[in-house]
Amino acid sequence: MKTFEQLGVASEIIEAIQELGFEQPMPVQEQVIPLLLAQTRDIIALAQTGTGKTAAFGLPIIQKIDSKQRSPQALILCPTRELCLQLSADLNDFSKYADGVKILPVYGGSSIDSQIRALKRGVQIIVATPGRLIDLLNRKVVSLDLVHTVVLDEADEMLNMGFTESIDDILSRVPKERSMLLFSATMPNEIAKITRKYMDKPAEIVIGRKNEGALNVKHVYYMVTARDKYLALKRIADYYPNIYAIIFCRTRRETQEIADKLIQDGYDADSLHGDLSQSQRDLVMGKFRNKNLQFLVATDVAARGLDVDDITHVINFGLPDDTESYTHRSGRTGRVGKSGTSISIIHIKEKGKIAQIEKAINKQFEKRSLPTGDVICEKQLFNLVDKIEKVKVNEDEIERLLPSIFRKLDWLEKEDIIKRIVSLEFNRLLEYYSAAEEIIEPTERSSRKDRDDRKDRKPFESNGGGSRQAEKGYTRLFINIGKMDGANPANLMGFVNDHVTGKVRIGKIDLLKNFSFFEVPEQEASKVVQTFKGLFIEDRKLIVEVAQESENKSTSNRKTFDKKGKRPKRRSY
Ligand code: AMP
Repeated sequence: MKTFEQLGVASEIIEAIQELGFEQPMPVQEQVIPLLLAQTRDIIALAQTGTGKTAAFGLPIIQKIDSKQRSPQALILCPTRELCLQLSADLNDFSKYADGVKILPVYGGSSIDSQIRALKRGVQIIVATPGRLIDLLNRKVVSLDLVHTVVLDEADEMLNMGFTESIDDILSRVPKERSMLLFSATMPNEIAKITRKYMDKPAEIVIGRKNEGALNVKHVYYMVTARDKYLALKRIADYYPNIYAIIFCRTRRETQEIADKLIQDGYDADSLHGDLSQSQRDLVMGKFRNKNLQFLVATDVAARGLDVDDITHVINFGLPDDTESYTHRSGRTGRVGKSGTSISIIHIKEKGKIAQIEKAINKQFEKRSLPTGDVICEKQLFNLVDKIEKVKVNEDEIERLLPSIFRKLDWLEKEDIIKRIVSLEFNRLLEYYSAAEEIIEPTERSSRKDRDDRKDRKPFESNGGGSRQAEKGYTRLFINIGKMDGANPANLMGFVNDHVTGKVRIGKIDLLKNFSFFEVPEQEASKVVQTFKGLFIEDRKLIVEVAQESENKSTSNRKTFDKKGKRPKRRSY
């Protein structure tokens, strides 16, 4: 293995990276640094995040900057604001002792004026998301005429996010004789197209095998019915007392909903998705990075820029649509030489996808059964005992209190004291799990029956619908949209009026979990019902009909431990 010096890295840069604790080059650095310093070839590097790729392109780029020249000489394009900020922060660290190298992150959602002012002062390395850079190019406040190195970082993500045209536009404004470096965790066909179009006989560097999940990530799945998915998630969370995880959901709504439920049940969790403002997202990411959160519930897109090294588990709350997203998700754990686990909670219908992913990542999944309440309690108990053993005792601070404490507990035997300390933390967990039903793993047949049951059941029969007579002169209507869909009285009224011609007065509204009731003037009722006939939201058929007498009939008498008291709040991990 070569040293950074042997790879040709300049002494002032070595000094900076030594301060960051980089002793030996990582494999991607060993391969990319000499090629980029020699500036002879275009390069495609298939490397997951966490392989050290930022320094692989960052160090040679910094070294090749002519700091007397104030125009941009290197351009790094990346998909998200978070990654943009992360990359610029890393480059700033690497260039701590490289005199006069200015790096500017350029991204949407922040003041363009301050970016323009910084560009006017002189910048040699631009790290940009494509949209904002095009904006600046169109305003003619930045020129790419002197750019000699272009990096496309997380290229597959940029394409997934629909930046293909913007990238085309940007690359057409960069001199032809630049070198180009493309980093991607996966190699979809679209990337091959870009490389053919813009690269000249690129050197192909593969860190790990193509499209293969990180070597030190274990892949596990649990199969449950749709209604047990959340309960399964909680069991997994409880089974690993020291877990530090990202939980991936498919939609913003599901992300928010799962995070809300976890918070309500006493977990240190929060959500990250596109409906949050930038400052809310920054706050959540900051809390997660600082480990004030144990669970980050996120959509694929929102989690893209997040760069955290010691995530122990990735939890897929359902599988993503494509194997590439799975590779990205699972690549969030098992980083920088650590081991990690990617857990998928799947429905029986998703079993086929497991086989597809196994083929793509060239690794087998392990099918596991959910831990029982007993096993979880035992595991938590031993974790607590372990913490008691390892806790650092602040002798000085507690010394003055000890005599009175000893006096107070004098009448108890040592065994009794231990039992009491353990019970203090543990009783609520025991109580909670003793009330829990076991989660039954679905079989093909049970899953079909579950589906048929649901098909036969009228939505308004599913749980106490709050049966009520309509106000005089009004008709009470049922709609299959509820709180779970994010409905509140205001947006439900807006939703109805957005669809119905003319304005409909809406009376009483009863919002329930999966569906709701609202009242409209009698003479308007059939118009409203007709309006919604055959309408779909995404792929879900809307049902609006006159509420029936039977709406109060409850078929749900299932008890879950969710309803019995709250899970004890975790204190630390
Ligand atoms: P990256 O893939 O660029 O996000 O890097 C992953 C992590 O590895 C970051 O925390 C880097 O600071 C760290 N890193 C990069 N290169 C080295 C190195 N040669 N030695 C030790 N750590 C490194």
